[in-house]
Amino acid sequence: MPAEPANIIRVLSDHVCNKIAAGEVIERPASVLKELVENSVDAGADRIEVEVLQGGRKAVIINDNGCGMDRDTALLAIERHATSKIRDVDDIEHIHTMGFRGEALAAISSVARFILTTRPADQLSGTRLEIEGGTLRNVEETGCPAGTRIEVRNLFFNVPARRKFLRTESTELNNIRSLFRVFALAHPDIQLILKVDGRELERYPVQARFEDRIADLHGAQVLQNLKPVSFQHGELKIHGFTGLPTLHRSDRRDQVCLINRRPATAPILAYAIRESYTDTLPKGRHPVCFLHLDMPADWVDVNVHPTKREVRFGPSQLLRDCLIKALTESLQPNGPPAEIEPPPPCEPPQAQAPQFHPEHRQPELPPAPENYPPLPPLPPQTARPEQPAAPPPPPPTDPLPQTDAADQEPGLWKDAVYLGNTGDRYALFQTEDGLLIMNPSAATERILFEQARTDMEKGKVASQALLVPETVACDPQEAKQIEKRKDDLQALGFVLADFGGNHFLVEAMPAWMGDADPASTLKELAMETDPQAGKLSTPKQLRDRLARSCCYLAARSRRNPSPAECTRLLKTLAKCQMPYTTPFGRPTLLHMDKQELNRKFGLDRPL
Ligand code: ADP
Ligand code: MG
Repeated sequence: MPAEPANIIRVLSDHVCNKIAAGEVIERPASVLKELVENSVDAGADRIEVEVLQGGRKAVIINDNGCGMDRDTALLAIERHATSKIRDVDDIEHIHTMGFRGEALAAISSVARFILTTRPADQLSGTRLEIEGGTLRNVEETGCPAGTRIEVRNLFFNVPARRKFLRTESTELNNIRSLFRVFALAHPDIQLILKVDGRELERYPVQARFEDRIADLHGAQVLQNLKPVSFQHGELKIHGFTGLPTLHRSDRRDQVCLINRRPATAPILAYAIRESYTDTLPKGRHPVCFLHLDMPADWVDVNVHPTKREVRFGPSQLLRDCLIKALTESLQPNGPPAEIEPPPPCEPPQAQAPQFHPEHRQPELPPAPENYPPLPPLPPQTARPEQPAAPPPPPPTDPLPQTDAADQEPGLWKDAVYLGNTGDRYALFQTEDGLLIMNPSAATERILFEQARTDMEKGKVASQALLVPETVACDPQEAKQIEKRKDDLQALGFVLADFGGNHFLVEAMPAWMGDADPASTLKELAMETDPQAGKLSTPKQLRDRLARSCCYLAARSRRNPSPAECTRLLKTLAKCQMPYTTPFGRPTLLHMDKQELNRKFGLDRPL
């Protein structure tokens, strides 16, 4: 047979097209699961059971109690571009269902052994279709429960190149499991069950509330460390929960954004979440959040990628700003009301602390007020972004009335009563519902940092001239860095004179640095300005970084505070924008409520 010329154009058969499309939509067993679960959700199921064999390589099976299909619909459903969800292009702008491309079933059945069994509730008998690598092998009437069951076996059996790229069984299973958990979060109103190799691994009952599903998935302890988020701007609603900065992870897996109930990612969301936690987390750690973002369907372009996981937004800047505002507000003590109504104000002197027996108290530290310079008062929180027009109305699930938080005294730790300290590092407070352990040095660091940042923003730093200006000898590398950052150091409140020969004269320091040693401070700041980090930072970020280090040093140089100072520290800390961690992300305090104490002492279970 003569060889065909290479450039003959042919129209590809449906069969080939499906296999190509499968490459886009279906990458691995988890993508099969995603498409099938989305279909079940669209079919109105309130019970979905997933079964996985050998990490999904052998089989992914899904059973739902949704609307089912009659024989003709089922036959149509496996055709490419067959969908019951849109009619023409305009509909893409207003998508309320999970699927709409009409590709998934055709694609999956072209690269696997595929069995569909389905029955609408109002019909007596169901339909069973068997497809192998895109070829319809058998159609028959069958008895089956109402709903749909789809078995996808031997994925990519006819595309060896793809099969080769599948990962190990456990990796594929991990992908499946995390996807399943995101679905569980997105749909508390659906009962979800996951069985793996015959064993039930996850089961989530129908829950009325988002937070109950979060607790099912992540445990009550995580829930306790989340703050409610409730925000509205025009047609954009953001609600759900965001973690205290003390709750963090090594990756972004526990940052879930549900855009109109669809799990989605977008660089702008990740950016906004990161921004909201600036200067509160340890390096390389990521916050936790579970958020619903509801907006008009035409703000979201879900048609960016066949798997619809990554989305794009029309008004992306608005979205970013609103998300930052929503999260920072809920992390601030003056943000939307917390779950627990703050108790009435009471400030009994220590000796009258309820339920506390003085004989058990730790010996008090000698008061040392002269060693502990008073902290500057925190300014009103003007650094927040502008309030968008519409004030948030209470979401239907929030049982608490919204109050105008800005007019209130911060309610955080209002009822805390000083109990004592552990001798060196920790101050203990009793609160209405448990125990608070504060690290005064960390608290000081946070307070100083917020003060320094505000001062810098306003361009009004307070410098304190040293009684005796100090000469600091640096090594050449340090000297170079200090020289380079002179303006930034000045912005912070340092007054430096260059002495030549790698020597500097420190004439004044930021007033709030107290007794910090000028030489070591300057040297540490030189280390902070390593050239590589400098390149990556904006001037503001760099100044914030310098300020962070100063605060750390300043806090470290202070002596142990007296009981009265501890109480004052806690009060000032409560007024901070981000009171829970230092700018380096270490906790400023730990709160253990009675439940947690009981759990720790084993008093939450019967003998
Ligand atoms: P899409 O979801 O984009 O419409 P699919 O190929 O995933 O495309 O599904 C094609 C059609 O098959 C759907 O539009 C729906 O009508 C029907 N279908 C798929 N899965 C189910 C199910 N579990 N229950 C009822 N109908 C289903
Ligand atoms: Mg679909």
